Amino acid sequence: MSTSCSHIRCHGCDFKGVIHHSPTTLQYHLPNGQIVEGYRRSAWCSSCGDVTEAEKSLEPATIQAEIDSINSSHLGFFTRILNKVLGDGDAWREERDKLTAKLLLAQMRRSPPRCLRCDNTPVHTLVFDENGASNIVHSCGRRLYGVPVDRDATRFFYKPVVIALDPEGHRFCPS
Ligand SMILES: [Zn+2]
Ligand SMILES: [Zn+2]
Repeated sequence: MSTSCSHIRCHGCDFKGVIHHSPTTLQYHLPNGQIVEGYRRSAWCSSCGDVTEAEKSLEPATIQAEIDSINSSHLGFFTRILNKVLGDGDAWREERDKLTAKLLLAQMRRSPPRCLRCDNTPVHTLVFDENGASNIVHSCGRRLYGVPVDRDATRFFYKPVVIALDPEGHRFCPS
């Protein structure tokens, strides 16, 4: 898989950071043995003092809304009859079970999203305005900015990576 990356510089010093758009998947291991997939995002980590990859937070309300919408489109009497006739199968049940496990994770989670490099919290979402200025003030006191993407720039080839985490976002080691 080939992806481009974005370069981050600082208005005040010679800091250089790189946002890698790597295909990283997070797998949360719940105490009941279920595994829930999560996503990473690029962020600024003050502990690393660098652009890093962090967990993407899970919003219980958003997940609940997805579950409700699946339930309401499949649990009605007529829908059930139709599904029987048309042989819709149980794919939606699987999807709903996945979401239910994700909701459980979102509800049990106590700590904010972690940096996937140093395991610390908090991390700051990187946001850029139309001029490329970011919302992050560097340790030198000046603001970080994004360098416009060069379409001909070298493209990196990343291997998809799976990171196993516990519900609080620490590296998961099966005991
Ligand atoms: Zn700086
Ligand atoms: Zn960090």
